[in-house]
Amino acid sequence: MNAPIRVTNNLEAFWMPFTANRQFKSNPRMFVAAKDMHYTTADGRQVLDGTAGLWCCNAGHGRPKITEAVQKQVAELDYAPAFQMGHPAAFELASRLVQLTPQGIDHVFFANSGSEAVDSALKIALAYHRARGEGQRFRLIGRERGYHGVGFGGISVGGIVSNRKMFGTLLTGVDHIRHTHDLTRNAFSRGLPEHGAEYAEDLERVIALHDPSTIAAVIIEPIAGSTGVLLPPKGYLERIRAICDKHGILLIFDEVITGFGRLGAPFAADYFGVTPDMMTVAKGITSGVIPMGAVFAKKEIYDAFMTGPEHLIELFHGYTYSANPVACAAALGTLDTYAEEGLLTRAADLASYWEDAVHSLKGLPHVIDIRNLGLIGAIELEPIAGQPTKRAFSAFLKAYEKGLLIRTTGDIIALSPPLIISKAQIDELITTLGDVLKALD
Ligand code: PMP
Repeated sequence: MNAPIRVTNNLEAFWMPFTANRQFKSNPRMFVAAKDMHYTTADGRQVLDGTAGLWCCNAGHGRPKITEAVQKQVAELDYAPAFQMGHPAAFELASRLVQLTPQGIDHVFFANSGSEAVDSALKIALAYHRARGEGQRFRLIGRERGYHGVGFGGISVGGIVSNRKMFGTLLTGVDHIRHTHDLTRNAFSRGLPEHGAEYAEDLERVIALHDPSTIAAVIIEPIAGSTGVLLPPKGYLERIRAICDKHGILLIFDEVITGFGRLGAPFAADYFGVTPDMMTVAKGITSGVIPMGAVFAKKEIYDAFMTGPEHLIELFHGYTYSANPVACAAALGTLDTYAEEGLLTRAADLASYWEDAVHSLKGLPHVIDIRNLGLIGAIELEPIAGQPTKRAFSAFLKAYEKGLLIRTTGDIIALSPPLIISKAQIDELITTLGDVLKALD
């Protein structure tokens, strides 16, 4: 018999992240179980997962291979010191991962979240230039509306004002280029927007503000996820890559959301045919089951630390839980699930069905844009004057009541279902969301 599901009325002590605690605690929403495409609420309702948790449960929920791998690993080797000691699962996982990464990206540094992966990648970029005798490259460039987690590095290169303004001066030597979101030219584009590759030239503008030889790295989400699924215009990423190459600047793709199949390819780098120098991943690496993040790096970057002078051969960075054995087991179980079920390319098969489904919401009240690619989508709503976020948040609450989990950011509804979603479930998701939108004020 299954153990009884735990419920609680003690809401006070837990300080919830990225949540208006008072608002939540006056109207709590609680998940107590999950299986495949559905969550179960504390009051026993089924909720269709339209967001793969927080863009992470790409294999769906309660998947047996992952559960078994975790259980076995906890029983066998629960923890091993992360520094100066190894364990087989870490090496096996790194080898498996570099079989999936684009050619030339063949080393893995483990962290425990997307935020840690980002801060690790930024530090590796700085240390790499120093190791090569180019320590004057200390500047980092991010993008407006970029989200790179919540570490000091991540919020510094990130471009979300509300995530930055509570926290003082942040990192110095950071600049931001323009985002590419352009509703006047690209509203209701299907797939990649036609217009706006020239926004990449903003990188030249920012580089020209400084001596180009002072710039260490540019970090970009191939698709800005958390700020509302902002898709790169056709040709944009290619131009960013060319500009970085021209000036000897490292390009980091933050693939925390786009990695592990979201676009119908293992990574966005594959989808776009643009290879960065480093990639940051998290979320889908374990399908959200155990926290894990990682930086994937090119051989030249790794080699700079292997062949430099003696005092540089160690990277003075790492975490107690880097390559934690249980997280590694979860990731191995996840990769097995992806491989056996063909999930890393499944989004490609579903993409056109998904595109038609999402765009069928065009014309509903307040909808000012719809975007899609692979198995990701967004519906942008016209904000209520003076009350930004209110309309989308009320859609979130109504959808939850009707048995659908969506994610909202500002007045944008984001969708990123687990890659196991069926066509019938896509129809259900869109019908429910359509009913919600029709009922909005
Ligand atoms: N980078 C990107 C692109 C993300 O989308 C996220 C999380 N949404 C992060 C970094 C941070 O990841 P985490 O919450 O695991 O720290």
